[in-house]
Amino acid sequence: MLAKAPLLNDENQILEAYAGLEGRALIRAMANDYRGRVALLSSFGAESSVLLHMVSEIDPALPVVFLDTEKLFPETIAYRDRLVADLGLTNLKIWHPTASDLKEQDPDGQLHASNPDQCCNIRKSIPMEKAFANYDVMISGRKRFHGAGRADLKFLSLDGNRLKVEPLAGFTALDLQSYMVAHQLPSHPLRLQGYRSIGCMPRQCTSPGGTDDNPREGRWMGSDKTECGIHFSANGKIIRTEYRAA
Ligand code: SF4
Repeated sequence: MLAKAPLLNDENQILEAYAGLEGRALIRAMANDYRGRVALLSSFGAESSVLLHMVSEIDPALPVVFLDTEKLFPETIAYRDRLVADLGLTNLKIWHPTASDLKEQDPDGQLHASNPDQCCNIRKSIPMEKAFANYDVMISGRKRFHGAGRADLKFLSLDGNRLKVEPLAGFTALDLQSYMVAHQLPSHPLRLQGYRSIGCMPRQCTSPGGTDDNPREGRWMGSDKTECGIHFSANGKIIRTEYRAA
């Protein structure tokens, strides 16, 4: 724990302060040094249990933000509830798209087919910005082995004045599997049906498939889209949503 946490306007100072930390040690440092200003973003997907388990051991009351797009598999909701109970997480924060956005932009629930980027914007990006309006530090579970825009992922990076923390950036598929076995963590039910990366239910958004080298192969198959927009746009730039906290 540092005597004084670095200000969130100097990436070099932050990188120097936390050099060499990853995994549990990095989460602990963030939870201590930015107490009350940190939240975890979790999809409760195929690989989420590892980071959730680490957080539960460090601080089970750390806020865990879950974006319910209202297009998720029921298995994901059930898995979320099971993990929250099993791990003793006490501060789950569920965010939904607004009724007005759905009514105006996706009245028939088919926006994912005609404009998936805008569908992700109203169902994920805008709720995410609202959810994190009161936090300065976002922990998430991306890994370099996912490839594409994640291949060069840093453990720490500044996005405006928000610090993004990726404690598992250096984990491999084998590291994740070993951790889950060692801690007897349950698998997502759809993982057992061949899904390696699990997002929304429409077939074009999530399909079974994927490999250790490319677990996200089943996401938006047949299109150029690789990210939902809460992290990066398709061209690698961070998406700025229309929402801004008042
Ligand atoms: S993943 Fe598909 S259904 Fe989910 S928000 Fe994005 S486009 Fe819409």
